[in-house]
Amino acid sequence: MIRVLFSARPPVWAEYEVPLRRAFAAAGLDCDLSRDHAPADVNYIVFAPNGPVKDFSPYVHARLVMGLWAGVETIVGNATLTQPLARMVDDGLTRGMVEYVVGHAMRHHLGMDAHLSGQDGAWHNDVYPPLAKDRPVTVLGLGALGEACGLALAGLGFPVTGWSRSTKDIPGMRCLSGDDGLRTALTDAQIVVLLLPQTPATVDILNADRLSLLARGAFVINPGRGPLIDDTALLAALDSGQVGGATLDVFRIEPLPQDHPYWSHPRVTVTPHIASTTRADTAAEVIAANIARGEAGQPFLHLVDRDAGY
Ligand code: NAP
Repeated sequence: MIRVLFSARPPVWAEYEVPLRRAFAAAGLDCDLSRDHAPADVNYIVFAPNGPVKDFSPYVHARLVMGLWAGVETIVGNATLTQPLARMVDDGLTRGMVEYVVGHAMRHHLGMDAHLSGQDGAWHNDVYPPLAKDRPVTVLGLGALGEACGLALAGLGFPVTGWSRSTKDIPGMRCLSGDDGLRTALTDAQIVVLLLPQTPATVDILNADRLSLLARGAFVINPGRGPLIDDTALLAALDSGQVGGATLDVFRIEPLPQDHPYWSHPRVTVTPHIASTTRADTAAEVIAANIARGEAGQPFLHLVDRDAGY
């Protein structure tokens, strides 16, 4: 019997209980799934950072802690977590992010806002958007989410440059890394998508200097994490016209405070951290697959590098 502890808020349990039991059965795993196991009996922990478990030290027989979220910045520094940690890589999460990023990129690309707010009977038909092939896009972060978003945008014809910590070779897009690579990636980019994790190395990565590299009037889409952007620098760039608009899903403080200038800025769209979410049906399969690997003595998938912070 494999004892699996589920540690998340009650509505999440209601969402996951049936898909998890189904996925365990489909994987041939004899799992006892509960929210109430005695800590010393637990073999695996399914975990959300805002759930009840904060201290992992009593879980002395836990082989793996599996996050339900892709972002792990609130847990990597937890000194009580000595067990391996897997972050969530879920097809449903990835698909949702692709749809969000493509939607907001296309909204900017096609200049939809001008038409949405301009239903005044005026017939301005002399402004055509460029074709996607003439609108360079840069995606910062080429992980599970960034690569999928980059490939989707490349599939629509955008010239896509991606930037990551390690060097990559992804057919269909230009891949860069390192400081020089970041400068090259941002120079003349017309749409920038941030899908980096929040780590000490990525905080404020989009600062005034780097915003100045973008094509004038560029569009910023941030579904990564709020601290990736220097907010003061972005607001200045929006006011000067260097940045033409921004769709922001994540913020240093969430919910975004009512008096934050992003709410009232005419060229900022605030979305309330809804870019994507883990989907219970597909995530349950990922969790079952990782437990099956552990039980078979195989290496776990999607392990977090605690030193790198993601
Ligand atoms: P991931 O698979 O861990 O990918 C992270 C990417 O960022 C990798 O390509 C990595 O490079 C790169 N990277 C990390 N540190 C870097 C650095 N210092 N310099 C350059 N590149 C760096 O993560 P993911 O699953 O794609 O998720 C990305 C982030 O999206 C999450 O961390 C989370 O914050 C955010 N997210 C937001 C939502 C939402 O609803 N808004 C939902 C899910 C996730 P390597 O490939 O070389 O390792």
